[in-house]
Amino acid sequence: MKERKIMSGGEFLVSDIKQEDVFSPEEFTNEQKMVYKAAFDFVKKELAENAEEVEKKDETNVRNWFTTAGELGLNATDIPEEYGGEGMDKISACLVGEAMGGANSFAVSHSCQTGIGSLPIYLFGTEEQKQKYLPKLATGEMIGAYCLTESGAGSDAMNAATTAVLSEDGSHYLLNGEKIFITNGAWADVLTVFAKVDGEKFTGFIVEKGFEGYSIGAEEAKLGIKGSSTVPVILKDCKVPVENVLFTIGAGHKIAFNVLNIGRYKLGSNAMGGAKFTMATAVKYANERVQFGRKISSFGMIRNKLAQMAIKTYMTESIVYRLAAAIDDKMGTLDEAARKSGEEVAKAIEEYSVECAITKVFGSETLDYVVDELVQIYGGNGYIAEYPAERAYRDSRINRIFEGTNEINRLVITGNILKMAMKGKLPLLETVSAALEEISAYDSSAFKKDSPLAAQEQILKNSKNIFLLTVNTVTQKLLETLQEDQEVIELLAEMVIEIFVMESGLLRAQKYLGTKGEKKAELQVAAVKAYCADTILKMAGLSKNVLAFAESGEALEKLIADVDKLASAPMENTIAFKRAIAEKLIKSKKYPF
Ligand SMILES: Cc1cc2nc3c(=O)[nH]c(=O)nc-3n(C[C@H](O)[C@H](O)[C@H](O)COP(=O)(O)OP(=O)(O)OC[C@H]3O[C@@H](n4cnc5c(N)ncnc54)[C@H](O)[C@@H]3O)c2cc1C
Repeated sequence: MKERKIMSGGEFLVSDIKQEDVFSPEEFTNEQKMVYKAAFDFVKKELAENAEEVEKKDETNVRNWFTTAGELGLNATDIPEEYGGEGMDKISACLVGEAMGGANSFAVSHSCQTGIGSLPIYLFGTEEQKQKYLPKLATGEMIGAYCLTESGAGSDAMNAATTAVLSEDGSHYLLNGEKIFITNGAWADVLTVFAKVDGEKFTGFIVEKGFEGYSIGAEEAKLGIKGSSTVPVILKDCKVPVENVLFTIGAGHKIAFNVLNIGRYKLGSNAMGGAKFTMATAVKYANERVQFGRKISSFGMIRNKLAQMAIKTYMTESIVYRLAAAIDDKMGTLDEAARKSGEEVAKAIEEYSVECAITKVFGSETLDYVVDELVQIYGGNGYIAEYPAERAYRDSRINRIFEGTNEINRLVITGNILKMAMKGKLPLLETVSAALEEISAYDSSAFKKDSPLAAQEQILKNSKNIFLLTVNTVTQKLLETLQEDQEVIELLAEMVIEIFVMESGLLRAQKYLGTKGEKKAELQVAAVKAYCADTILKMAGLSKNVLAFAESGEALEKLIADVDKLASAPMENTIAFKRAIAEKLIKSKKYPF
């Protein structure tokens, strides 16, 4: 098979990406499928149908699940074999994340263990630190946690008040402060804790639960994910040996931000898996519940909900595995020494900080959409705790808050795109002039019809041009004040998200069409057509709101006319597409792609 081109971060905004350069889930290897099956079987047997037991938050149960997960190689997906891990590729690691999406709130405990609980040590630890902690985190003998948040330092994580002062004999640091909302906190044996050395230099430390001066507070009473532990961690002259400083003094931000990049795309895989499990619950109920003498799954409005669930999940799946493969490809370019250096690995992943943030935002919002419609399909029963919809609805909500709130992630998306453009890493402004010429010559009546997805290819191209036209106006008119115009930043981020999502779904469907033919690819094509039809209208709306803020008078009228021209795509029969998708979902009783 031809090798995929290595993508650079944000490149999708300025290039026509080819289908052969994008990985899609139809290409999983047998080995990757086996990884998924092992994780899925574990989740199904022990966790998915065991929600009440999970909710008890019983430490013995939790430790047993971690031990079993460890025996199956599911705790240390990203950790190299020399430290007791599996050294999986990122696609496989996301497959584990996807399967865990059905594990109820153990999913949160587990993703903490495999992510923020162990990655700081793997990526930034010394050889001794890695040897000491990682093998035990891999088997589940140790449970990991990550302490960044404080009452005054949430989204503004660098504003930490926790301090670290070197002891007189230079043998240890004394940490003082309180961390809040710490996942796995009640059970954690080893924690990455951030504190400011001498009140200034933001630094990571490895803290063990037995260290003098370490304690935890009471469990938080939460809206959802009640089977996960969330406690404050209290540090009162907590004695941390100097050999437990993680990485470089004053470079804690590197640990914090890089670990978040990984956490974000993993959260996307988890949410997507959760959406698939939820969809199966929804369709089962819709097939059983009878009103007006008919199964409710026969009503058009219910079918529309089921179809929308499936389409959004298909799109999430497309971006998750496209990104995971892009990271794997990038890792493949590292030499042996670089691959062994966690810092280099983190840098390779940082290339895709925008795509990681997109996957987090789109995945979490897809799951929220799916669980919301699950409640609606359950009707009154959806509101009653005895039924699964109520818990799913509450459990999902946290995903928009942790790993950086979705607002912070939207700031990252627009901010990093503009930063890359300013630094000359992404030829955004260079592409604008070509785009403007293309827009002025563009004839909207000349939509291509030479293949089933030709119109959607044009819609994607036009969406990119709408974005470029908008960003051009923003850079000319608003750049200096943009920081304070967050509404504009948010609208731009939304446009970037939709372009990446549409493109990923489209290239995947085109590839499937090319290899399997029209009949087999019918549903994927339907999903992409329905999604693109809605999204081009959304793109126009997002753009016009920005333009009306930045421009006025004739200049605005001209821009709006250009956007309208680009957004006027031939109307598709979206109802028929969604019906076909719902039909398959109702028959197969699961995610239909
Ligand atoms: C169940 C749970 C588990 C958690 N697990 C962990 C953990 O294991 N380790 C850990 O360190 N932390 C953890 N957290 C903390 C979590 O990461 C933070 O809650 C999150 O980062 C938001 O911080 P905050 O709660 O202080 O909200 P704030 O930062 O106060 O935000 C409040 C609102 O303001 C918005 N906002 C803030 N700044 C901006 C801005 N610049 N522009 C626009 N909008 C803004 C936010 O998006 C949000 O909508 C957990 C939280 C919960 C609830």
